[in-house]
Amino acid sequence: MRESGSPGAWGCESISDQDHEEHGTGDRGLKISEKPCRSALVRSGIPGIGYCINPYSGCGHGCIYCYASFMKRFLGTGEPWGSFVQVKTNVSDRLVKDLRKCRHDRVMLSSVTDPYQPVEEVYRLTRSCLGILAGTDLPVSILTKSDLVLRDLDLLKKFSDIEVGFSITTADDRIAEILEPGATPPSRRFAAIAKLSAAGIRTWVFIAPVIPGLGDSEGALREILGNARSAGALDVEYDPLNCYPSARSNLTSIFKKNWPEFLPGLEEACRNPAAWRSGLGSKAARLWKEYGYPLHRDEKRGRPD
Ligand code: SF4
Repeated sequence: MRESGSPGAWGCESISDQDHEEHGTGDRGLKISEKPCRSALVRSGIPGIGYCINPYSGCGHGCIYCYASFMKRFLGTGEPWGSFVQVKTNVSDRLVKDLRKCRHDRVMLSSVTDPYQPVEEVYRLTRSCLGILAGTDLPVSILTKSDLVLRDLDLLKKFSDIEVGFSITTADDRIAEILEPGATPPSRRFAAIAKLSAAGIRTWVFIAPVIPGLGDSEGALREILGNARSAGALDVEYDPLNCYPSARSNLTSIFKKNWPEFLPGLEEACRNPAAWRSGLGSKAARLWKEYGYPLHRDEKRGRPD
């Protein structure tokens, strides 16, 4: 996920409550509802990305550091972030219409949700959008924390310009289970990278966010870089944690409960983010070079989660 501006970016901000149909709960007690949208292709402020498609609002992966949680206030729900998903049931119909008037520009799935979160197994909206995009010559970028993307390999192969990024915060499955309770374990994400790479699909890893204390040690970064290299990822990029109040307080609670040893690192980084980022940058410059990856090879492009 990467937040992308105003609530209008969601394309559903004006839908009334009458359009909102409750459907009960799914995996992990998720509250799933259907809510049609007014547009599928939304202009993006992310560098290098022309448009975003977010087939869902909310995200069942429920990452505790998620920056998109602020979007909750635009969605008319009081549910905790990670406990609800709104399904844009008409997104592919809207996409067909939006494509008639869009420019030739890169399309990203997705910017404020995960296009392959668990409900996608049932609703298949991302697959449906990909099927439509495959009939165009638009370049496409996918970013996910799920190996469900492998289901759509047949479609991915139809694109001349497509890349699949995997957001990976830690290579440790046990840690990820706590940080990202609804997402595919990182070991499976690396396995998916290997399969996609072997099939000729361009893949990359996005360490996002780098979490102070937990994810910024040389050992933690090396684990991800080494796994990425072995799996065939062509690039690795990173995004330091932004100490938003909600992300900071969620991480503090989780650290207190599970890994108190990481607390000083988090507190220091949030107290003095410039110094922390600078130290991380120096470490990354050395490690990325060692693993043969360019660092920020394309600053203008920017990267989502
Ligand atoms: S996968 Fe992305 S959008 Fe979903 S909860 Fe995690 S960080 Fe947020």
